[in-house]
Amino acid sequence: MSLNHVRPWRNIYRRKSRQIMVGSVPVGGDAPIAVQTMTNTLTTDVAATVAQVQAAAEAGADIVRVSVPDEASSKALKEIVRESPVPIVADIHFHYKRGIEAAEAGAACLRINPGNIGDEKRVQEVIKAARDHDCSIRIGVNAGSLEKHLLEKYGEPCPDAMVESGLEHIRILQDNDFHNFKISVKASDVFLSAAAYQGIAEATDAPIHLGITEAGGLVSGTIKSAIGLGNLLWMGIGDTIRVSLSADPVEEVKVGYEILKSLGLRHRGVNIISCPSCARQGFDVIKTVEALEQRLEHIKTPMSLSIIGCVVNGPGEALMTDVGFTGGGAGSGMVYLAGKASHKMSNDQMIEHIVEQVEKKAAELDAAAEAAE
Ligand code: SF4
Repeated sequence: MSLNHVRPWRNIYRRKSRQIMVGSVPVGGDAPIAVQTMTNTLTTDVAATVAQVQAAAEAGADIVRVSVPDEASSKALKEIVRESPVPIVADIHFHYKRGIEAAEAGAACLRINPGNIGDEKRVQEVIKAARDHDCSIRIGVNAGSLEKHLLEKYGEPCPDAMVESGLEHIRILQDNDFHNFKISVKASDVFLSAAAYQGIAEATDAPIHLGITEAGGLVSGTIKSAIGLGNLLWMGIGDTIRVSLSADPVEEVKVGYEILKSLGLRHRGVNIISCPSCARQGFDVIKTVEALEQRLEHIKTPMSLSIIGCVVNGPGEALMTDVGFTGGGAGSGMVYLAGKASHKMSNDQMIEHIVEQVEKKAAELDAAAEAAE
């Protein structure tokens, strides 16, 4: 992220982590914070899983994780990896053989805890497979499945226990001279998660995968994730994020991006600034914003659009956006381009007109970015 010298209160100083590659996607260092999600189809249903991966990638996912619970899933994984437009992470629990199979199948990363897959020989075999196939590893500590000896030592899942668990897994990889890993310390409780992540961020330079696990449904999970992940990202912690929702993976990707966009850490698509509306509104703000969100989903160019009900806040917000519309009287409003009042437009034609203006602006910005390369 480039630092903003004019508005220093917007600056976020990212923790310095080393960089690893998850397939073609860099994670850590100064790489953009990668957005992840996870499929919820049966992995053995290759067509359905690939469709879900593609939809997530279209929505902006940089990396997608797929569960590999059995041998049939390992076989399917090979086809999924071949068809996927983004790197695939294989989610493995306990079965070291699945880890080896997934690395051989072309997974870009294994989510596996080396301390939970058996004796040293098995661990070494998984690490060898990862190394042979240029596959990274994510250590995924979870408050809900902490090792018995740590629960006995600490009495309950707590930040220190989670950090210790993470460091134990890290040590196993390092003892095997394997450094191509990142780490997460997730909990469903935002306080526990945030404290554990702060602890692990201080204890290692490994890239950090952020997540609030089992966050809940679309609304409650979004809020929980925005508070938990938002706080950590604001502190500069986090190199890749996954928002866990009991919802479609595409929603997870959208929410992940919105969190990063709110903090200026990544930019993608149209950032709509709209007022809540009230009796002063010159047009139906809520319906208009709903319609525009759908109509502008295809725009990937980072840009801003203000949709404001009346002149109380309209001109001020329009000053700071690429395209703006402010409600006025007599069934029409003012269109703003690059912050300046441009022309009037009737309310019944404004949605169509704004879509055209946004598409035009996006094409201009794309051309300018291409010329600057
Ligand atoms: S901008 Fe105007 S319409 Fe929108 S909430 Fe404020 S006063 Fe109401």
